[in-house]
Amino acid sequence: MTKITVAKGDGIGPEIMDATLEIILAAGAKIEVEEIEVGEKVYLSGNTSGIAPESWETIRRNKIFLKAPITTPQGGGYKSLNVTTRKFLGLYANVRPCTSLHPFVSTKHPIMDIVIIRENEEDLYAGIEHQQTDEVVQCLKLISRPGCEKIVRYAFEYAKQQNRKKVTCFTKDNIMKQTDGLFHQVFDEIAKEYPEIENEHWIIDIGAAKMADTPEAFDVIVMPNLYGDVLSDVAAQITGSVGLAGSANIGEECSMFEAIHGSAPRRAGQNLANPSGLLQGAIMMLNHIGQTTVAEKVQNAWLKTLEDGIHTYDIFKEGISQQKVGTKEFAKAVIANLGNKPATLKPVSYANNSALNLPKYKRKLPATKELVGVDLFVHWNGTDPDELATKIKTIESNGVELTMITNRGIKVWPDGFKETFCTDHWRCRFKPSKNTTIHKTDIIELLSRGDANQIDIIKTENLYAFDGKAAYSLGQGQ
Ligand code: NAD
Repeated sequence: MTKITVAKGDGIGPEIMDATLEIILAAGAKIEVEEIEVGEKVYLSGNTSGIAPESWETIRRNKIFLKAPITTPQGGGYKSLNVTTRKFLGLYANVRPCTSLHPFVSTKHPIMDIVIIRENEEDLYAGIEHQQTDEVVQCLKLISRPGCEKIVRYAFEYAKQQNRKKVTCFTKDNIMKQTDGLFHQVFDEIAKEYPEIENEHWIIDIGAAKMADTPEAFDVIVMPNLYGDVLSDVAAQITGSVGLAGSANIGEECSMFEAIHGSAPRRAGQNLANPSGLLQGAIMMLNHIGQTTVAEKVQNAWLKTLEDGIHTYDIFKEGISQQKVGTKEFAKAVIANLGNKPATLKPVSYANNSALNLPKYKRKLPATKELVGVDLFVHWNGTDPDELATKIKTIESNGVELTMITNRGIKVWPDGFKETFCTDHWRCRFKPSKNTTIHKTDIIELLSRGDANQIDIIKTENLYAFDGKAAYSLGQGQ
């Protein structure tokens, strides 16, 4: 018996959760349910996180969380409970299988069976944003080696367990050579440990276009957080309906399982909603806790029910469907099919699922790190980069010299183009002259001379070489 935390959520949440639990319990799931309240009621009671401290305790104690969608109230100040849960509990892997159910569910892509594995904790979702000048705001894109290693290994282990043939990596490392570059590099390193699984890398833009057009070309796709967020919705939608897809959020200790859709408030309380998305989440949960026989039984019964044409309103289509049913009747039909297998769709078999081998991250020996320069970011309302260079050169000292100025990453000094549009946010790069080195004290000196000369330095970014290799981007056009 595994104790799980359940939140019935808002809108259609309670109806689809009741249907899901009824189905998996009828199939013999050995679970004990501990229910918590999250979502709209909690938000509106004045708790901006949408969850009470004692509910966190329940989630952390039981470690397995099955969650129905919740409504985030309109207006500012309410934090997304999903994002908070993923980060607090270290749920680094988001797994979303997207499979066509042709010819039983209408889709433009009859052959589609992909799994998107999205990094779930870092990237632009670290939420570190600052306004720096009147005209410029920034969001830090953080990509870490442990983050990359964990998600890429998860993708290959998942592919191995599910007997899948290929893992594809999507990044934009032709532009973001450091951040996406690291993700791609780690992908190449870990792929070597799985010679039996094909691997490939696509630049995200053409990769996404290909996925939307020819999804049959892909199997498992792993990607950083933002790309995965966008593309997993696209992938679910083009199978026929977002209402059919579930998602698993996996961490080292805890995990959360859900539908990918929201609380559909307009459909609530009318016995209309399709419980399939949450049921798919619950099936992933059963596999995760080792109840693979029950998971298999439920999945095959669900496939058979869809094949029988017993459809909720969202996928009902005259000529394809046989019977339009409500949430409760759909659940009853799946229960009646327990033990049956689909005839046309491929039945699933989870019996031989091996456990994933996910070793804890081991920190590598540190590289030799050498300070080789510094970027000073300056708020300046002028327009002529030559004028700024003259001003900035007055703070040079100890052989540390201004070598370049960029605006939004584009080199504007020396030898800039007058056509380049400039904002009030300037990056001034300092490097030591020949036969000189730069130290932290030189940066302090630059800052204090800048302050004395009324130069508005808004931040600094140190330039390093790791093991002799420059580890920062060049100016565009440099
Ligand atoms: P939604 O997914 O709730 O609804 C989008 C459309 O899909 C609607 O037309 C809806 O009727 C339909 N739909 C969704 N699920 C369905 C189902 N199971 N059966 C039949 N039809 C279904 O998206 P939305 O309208 O943008 O958001 C509504 C609320 O849900 C918002 O408050 C949003 O913040 C929240 N939301 C929550 C989650 C979550 O908890 N994981 C995810 C997304 C949105």
